[in-house]
Amino acid sequence: MSTPPVTIDDIRAARDCIAGKIQSTPVVLSPILSELAGVPVHLKLEHRQTTGAFKLRGASNAVALLSAEERKRGVTTASTGNHGRALAHAARLEGARAVICMSKLVPENKLSEIRRLGAEIRIVGNSQDDAQAEVDRLVAEEGMIAVPPFDHPAVIAGQGTLGLEIMEAVPDVATVLVQLSGGGLAAGIAAAVKAVNPRARVVGVSMERGAAMKASLDAGRPVQVEELPTLADSLGGGIGLDNRLTFAMCRDLLDDVVLLSEEEIAAGIRHAYAAEREIVEGAGAVGLGALLARKVKPAGPTVLILSGANIDMALHRKVVCGEGR
Ligand SMILES: *Cc1c(COP(=O)(O)O)cnc(C)c1O
Repeated sequence: MSTPPVTIDDIRAARDCIAGKIQSTPVVLSPILSELAGVPVHLKLEHRQTTGAFKLRGASNAVALLSAEERKRGVTTASTGNHGRALAHAARLEGARAVICMSKLVPENKLSEIRRLGAEIRIVGNSQDDAQAEVDRLVAEEGMIAVPPFDHPAVIAGQGTLGLEIMEAVPDVATVLVQLSGGGLAAGIAAAVKAVNPRARVVGVSMERGAAMKASLDAGRPVQVEELPTLADSLGGGIGLDNRLTFAMCRDLLDDVVLLSEEEIAAGIRHAYAAEREIVEGAGAVGLGALLARKVKPAGPTVLILSGANIDMALHRKVVCGEGR
């Protein structure tokens, strides 16, 4: 295997860089899932991360690596929510201005939280691409620094710190299930996991409705897919037709990608709540959904990540009461 553009050394450096700015989240055994799967199944409780998702790792690393002059110009991003929230938090911690651009599909709970974190919000268009055009304008016309949600070496390295924590908590892990959207999380985790144990399998999990990375991997190049509403809204959006890093890393490092129906995602959210006593958003529940639907055959000790908690509580109530889409 060729050396990935983000290496375990970058990821170790990121861990030192963001120590004290993020939480190392717990890994716990799920007795119920272990019994069901016939192998030990561990949950990485990353939905308890500050700001409610792992995105704080990558955003904190990217902001920490800026020069004082760049910090003054401020940071901007297009985000479906959790990255924007993370960047707002990371920027405030460093005293930098943050402008978050997002599409109209982003739910109100995510928007108000970003505002509370002190960032400016720009709502532009109906897709991630429209929001990205506004970011490009802020960079070109106002000199701001773009911190993209996934396709950036510092962001990938930051997300990869989760992989280091997983390997330390479960050294004999055989299968890691990773949420897959733009691929920053999967690329970072796979780079860390495979560097420590090349035989460990890393499997990406997306939703059936609008899985851009899966479609791109199948096509052999980045392609666009229609953005559709889904319970796993944090997995929505494209990977960028000019994708630089995450497409190649996911192609080279992931062993498989599976897709879930909306009902399978809902089952994951319900299981998290009823059996594990955890509140997770749709994207955070796809690893659970994949195991429950038996779409992944775990070989040996398995780790799955609860990647985010940021779900509208009215929607959560509907889903756990069995009325979810
Ligand atoms: C962003 C996000 C993902 C997917 O991460 P990518 O790096 O875009 O693949 C998964 N879960 C949650 C909760 C997220 O916010």
